[in-house]
Amino acid sequence: MLKAVRGTRDLLPPETDLWNQVEATVRSVLARYNFHEIRTPIFEDTSLFARSVGEDTDIVSKEMFTWEDRARAASENAQSLSLRPENTAGVVRAYIEHGLDKKGALQKLYYIGPQFRRERPQKGRYRQFYQIGAEIIGPPSANSESPARDAEVLEMLATLLDKVGLRGWGLQLNSVGCADDRTRYSQALRKALQPVVHQMCEDCRRRAETNPLRVLDCKVPEDQPIIAKLPRISEYLDEPCRQHFAAVRSMLDAIGIPYNINERMVRGLDYYTRTTFEFTHGDLGAQNAVLGGGRYDGLSESLDGPKAPGIGFAIGEDRLIMALQAEGVKAVQKLDAYVAPLGAGMNAPALKLARELRRHGIRVEIGDEDFRLKKSFEGAVRAGAKYIVIVGENEVASGHFTVKNLTTGYQVQVARAELVAHLGRR
Ligand code: AMP
Repeated sequence: MLKAVRGTRDLLPPETDLWNQVEATVRSVLARYNFHEIRTPIFEDTSLFARSVGEDTDIVSKEMFTWEDRARAASENAQSLSLRPENTAGVVRAYIEHGLDKKGALQKLYYIGPQFRRERPQKGRYRQFYQIGAEIIGPPSANSESPARDAEVLEMLATLLDKVGLRGWGLQLNSVGCADDRTRYSQALRKALQPVVHQMCEDCRRRAETNPLRVLDCKVPEDQPIIAKLPRISEYLDEPCRQHFAAVRSMLDAIGIPYNINERMVRGLDYYTRTTFEFTHGDLGAQNAVLGGGRYDGLSESLDGPKAPGIGFAIGEDRLIMALQAEGVKAVQKLDAYVAPLGAGMNAPALKLARELRRHGIRVEIGDEDFRLKKSFEGAVRAGAKYIVIVGENEVASGHFTVKNLTTGYQVQVARAELVAHLGRR
């Protein structure tokens, strides 16, 4: 039997009802904050990810699905393409390509879609997973660097998680400073690691050379006491970065959004500057981050674009759904009525009635005139309908329909003109 590839999965109803409910809520919350959707391709030039996410990161060095596209002409070289492992790079590429900086204002863009990473599949970690993300990016003249944008994004996330019904979340906050701070901090880490790195795991030994910040991501238990003694990023922030972070924190305090400062959270992508954050959830186990994000003030320039500071996040939708399910949240999709044609020739009048009801927004399933009454009732119960509406010759002639509430067992005759109101009562 052919099966979905390891690390990918099918999403089926009724779970997809919850996915759609979450996405509808998210779209409506994002609209209130004046975000608009952007749709970028699911594959891009490999160099886009190498130059933004970073060549030495796990994502780019180990986890991308990459292939050589056939050259179209003998004179052309084959192009290296990759499935997107994340979407900020694509959004910033599009921002530059379409000259969105020339609009002068801040761009508030969001996306919902699949991302691909060749990771070892486990609970909450897939090779095709879904992210809901948003970016605020713009020219310095639009104050895109302002800590007020960081606070707006974090406040929006708190509201968004509340609106989709998630309760047990926590915000982890950090600042990784600007490029200069990170260079000085990396040097300090390298120096501090030198005498101890031989006691650490193989990944850390490699990272200590290539990208010492990544050592802080290490999850190997034996390495933790060593990591706890390493220098802290906060000691290496310059004055503007320090003030920027203080301003973000004081705005969160003013609106009452709780957070923990987590200085080890440097995030697995190279483009981050200043504010970085994750929202975690207690029911998710080892993969406990529901979402992650941060500021990326130099990203546009590193892709040969204009100066365009920005901040964004990506929610792992698979994990958000898992966390909601762990809290018992269910989709509220419910079928209102099951229209049951009773007897030969009743399919057409039943379809006509169902058409009217559906046009009025009533959720309707329909049976078949070949079904006996018993089979129609079973069908209605299986479909989860609240009411069954019988459409027989008498009903059609009189214009009054037998309607039974399948939960209470209460049965009444309802005139055609009253049906929508009767069935639509929620
Ligand atoms: P990142 O782009 O690594 O910052 O990830 C942002 C969010 O996407 C994480 O907090 C996760 O919720 C989610 N995520 C990342 N990788 C995966 C994966 N392989 N499977 C499922 N969710 C993921």
